[in-house]
Amino acid sequence: MTKGTASLGKRSRGKSHIQCRRCGSHAYHVKTKICASCGFGKSARLRTYTWQKKRNPTSD
Ligand SMILES: [Zn+2]
Repeated sequence: MTKGTASLGKRSRGKSHIQCRRCGSHAYHVKTKICASCGFGKSARLRTYTWQKKRNPTSD
C-alpha cells in the first residue's frame, strides 16, 4: 500500500458520480441519484448553504 499517484491509478473500477444534468458538474451519484453539487434529486431548489459566502464586489 502506497500513498499518492501509485494508488490513485487503481481507482478506475466503477463510477459513483456522473455528470449532473442540472448543474453540469460531475457530482451526480448514480446509485443514490443525488447530485453532491446542486442537490438535484434531493431538492427541487439548488443545494445551497449559508456558509457558502458569495463574494460581494462592492463591500468586502
Ligand atoms: Zn448537479
